[in-house]
Amino acid sequence: MKNYLRFLAFLKPLKYWIFSAFILTVLYIFFNSAALYITGTFIKTIFSPASQGKSISAAAPTPEKSQTLTSDDLLSEISLKDKVKRFVGAHVESDDEVETLKRICIILLISFLLKNIMAYGKRIITGLIEFRLVNDIREAVYSHIHQLSMSFFDNTKSGEITSITFNDVGSIKNMLRMSFEKIILVPLEILAYFSWLIILSWKLTLYIFIIIPLIAIIITQIGSSIRRKSKRIFAQVAEVLNLLTENLNAIRIVKAFATEAYEIARFKKENEKYYHLSLRQRKLSALTSPLNEVIGAYIAVLLLWFGGREVLQGQGLEADDFMQYIIFLFMMFAPLRQLSGLNNTIQIGLGAGDRVLRLLDTKPQIADKSDARPITDFQQGIEIKNMTFRYKNDLPAALKNINLSIKKGQMLAFIGPSGAGKTTLVNLIPRFYEVSSGSISIDGFDLRDLQTRSLRKLMGIVTQESILFNDTVRVNISYGVENAGDEAIINAAKIANAWEFIKTMEKGLDTVIGERGVMLSGGQRQRLSIARAILKNPPILILDEATSALDTESEKLVQAALNSLMKNRTVFVIAHRLSTIIRADRIVVLKDGRIVESGKHEELLAKDGTYSRLYELQFAGKSENA
Ligand code: ADP
Repeated sequence: MKNYLRFLAFLKPLKYWIFSAFILTVLYIFFNSAALYITGTFIKTIFSPASQGKSISAAAPTPEKSQTLTSDDLLSEISLKDKVKRFVGAHVESDDEVETLKRICIILLISFLLKNIMAYGKRIITGLIEFRLVNDIREAVYSHIHQLSMSFFDNTKSGEITSITFNDVGSIKNMLRMSFEKIILVPLEILAYFSWLIILSWKLTLYIFIIIPLIAIIITQIGSSIRRKSKRIFAQVAEVLNLLTENLNAIRIVKAFATEAYEIARFKKENEKYYHLSLRQRKLSALTSPLNEVIGAYIAVLLLWFGGREVLQGQGLEADDFMQYIIFLFMMFAPLRQLSGLNNTIQIGLGAGDRVLRLLDTKPQIADKSDARPITDFQQGIEIKNMTFRYKNDLPAALKNINLSIKKGQMLAFIGPSGAGKTTLVNLIPRFYEVSSGSISIDGFDLRDLQTRSLRKLMGIVTQESILFNDTVRVNISYGVENAGDEAIINAAKIANAWEFIKTMEKGLDTVIGERGVMLSGGQRQRLSIARAILKNPPILILDEATSALDTESEKLVQAALNSLMKNRTVFVIAHRLSTIIRADRIVVLKDGRIVESGKHEELLAKDGTYSRLYELQFAGKSENA
């Protein structure tokens, strides 16, 4: 319930629309009731014309009679019922039966027309509210995801995030659509019909009252079971989606290893689980409707028996009252049934809602302090002091007791075996993760005291895997740089050795490069991401040199582009190339999360330690071509 209220909070900005929907609903019910009541009168006029005079005029007592009644028993059913009858009698009844029929027909036409105009308006407005709402929730989820730190993405599969943003939010939409439309309409409708029932015969209505709580109990039981099931279903959808996205990302490997059959079997297994869960849920929700129908029919028969007997034995209930009673009662079944369907949908929506709220409630691990200050330029240097980092509290430290400093304009090269912590270390500089102890500071300011956005604006990152968007060359190069003119973009592309190939593309800067840049070669992709960094022109550069086997020609171009990029910047580079290492102001050798050696190339070689062994292994005998 608490969760449901939290989603209702999204309704606040829509309050005027909600009010309009409410008014339309009330009008709808009014015209609907009028239409139904008149239908009852109509049937009686047609089928028992002989009694017509009696029933309308006799049942519509003269003012004197009515006055005695009201003074006797002001709130009694008789007085209200008769008041309505008198009103209808006075306005509809005529001495001429055909004239009466004509009036009834006209009232019917008008009230059905108005009722449906109201219904139409109501549906449009509720649609507006519903779509607005789901968009707002989806946007809230999406912007929240972007507030979250890298560690969240390490621990959450992308399929799960996709599934939450689409399927679960979609279910909330269904929940809100059903519940919003029905929470306003259905209870009002039921209330209106129910009042009619009491007005027409409180005795018969009492019988129904005894049975309704029984139905309510059954429906709630089924509902909560459906909710549990749907939660499991949504988790399972996420599993299936995960498998799918993971697979699509790794499709090359799947093909190369010819593991299609294995992958299909894996998918089938998860998909089958989904099938069984869905079927179990369907069995339950399918039960609700027939169950209600049977219960409804039993109530109706019960009433036919009691009510019919009263009419036949002339015990107070008149034929036309009974007719109208039956009409209103049957009309009440539809909204009642909807109410039970409503419960199921709400339960499904709440299951999904739990997952959405859990995501919305995930606190970003890294958040700016309230008094965080912006940093606009980089003047002196970066210092890392006694820094230890672990990805999770229960994991061993990925970096231990790191002490490092770099002055503006210097180049720091990290080398070390795979898993030594090089990537982890460079990821801490833009504060993708928070240090566990010790500190990192820039120009003397601890990163934790700065506005993270302003910090990251000072940095450019070029990774081994070029990360490109399925958009034009222009958008990819100018990503994150507002109002970049074509001239600047082309200039950056030229420096990055990318202009040569962009120029030859059919649409030049407007060429769409496909998902993750599939239309481009590896070297071209890298040169595009280098052009992006050049255009951003950050004072600090974080670079993970590509080890990928580019052909010599391509590699030369990429390397030349990188050299231009590194010029006049402060550079942290995970180095894989001898030329980079030789040029570095300092080489930092990492092993098992610790700095084991650091210094310039010659100094380290002379030490004859880890570095010289790594050097022997990786570079000795290789000719450099950059
Ligand atoms: P390198 O870049 O030197 O190859 P990494 O910095 O990638 O090394 O990894 C250092 C250590 O941290 C490794 O033991 C690795 O398994 C671990 N590690 C890397 N990324 C994560 C992560 N997201 N969550 C938990 N552990 C990680």
